[in-house]
Amino acid sequence: MSDVGAGPESIEEYYARIAAATDDEGRLPVAVEEMPGWDIYPYEIDSLRLKPLQPLAAEEPPRRGEAASDCWCRQPTGEDDGTLVWSNERWRLQIARATGLPITLLLSPVAHHDLPSLPTELAAELGELIVAVGDAIEHVPSVGRFQLARYGDGGAHAHLFLMGRPARILQFRGSPLIDWEENLPRVPLEVLQRNARVVADRLVVHVGGRAGSLGR
Ligand SMILES: [Zn+2]
Repeated sequence: MSDVGAGPESIEEYYARIAAATDDEGRLPVAVEEMPGWDIYPYEIDSLRLKPLQPLAAEEPPRRGEAASDCWCRQPTGEDDGTLVWSNERWRLQIARATGLPITLLLSPVAHHDLPSLPTELAAELGELIVAVGDAIEHVPSVGRFQLARYGDGGAHAHLFLMGRPARILQFRGSPLIDWEENLPRVPLEVLQRNARVVADRLVVHVGGRAGSLGR
């Protein structure tokens, strides 16, 4: 019977449903009929098991830069260390250096904001930028599709990941790309810069702003 009129479920109720599905060791079964059974899943299922479910944390831990005064955006930094792809007065787009993908970019507002509390004007511009950066990443020759992620668990300052899934490596499609990425050889910075120049030049044409030096 549906509980019409009740409020949203508590995390304790949500957790209890998961815990009820675990075995004697607190492990959930691997869902072989779901993504673990798809051809894009990176791991072999025979030897796969999930870690035991941990108890609920007492509270959400604080993130880096939770207070603006402690955030990287308040630290004096060099303007352009060769990883800045593009910027305008309100946004910065940078290369994530340690990546196994042809291109992984971080898009952040210059001012200190978390994504859920982004002011409306910045939110509207973010929408335009996601489209423009996504289009530009898909013009990098070694990229098949761009992927977009926001986690928000590490740093409080809003930052989106825009990643290029390597072209024609169909095994890397979908969300398992991140699992593959950790295990791929790191792409040299000089190669990342050459790929990012495609993005920088296209963004300047489509949304204005300035290209970073990118080793040029
Ligand atoms: Zn900040």
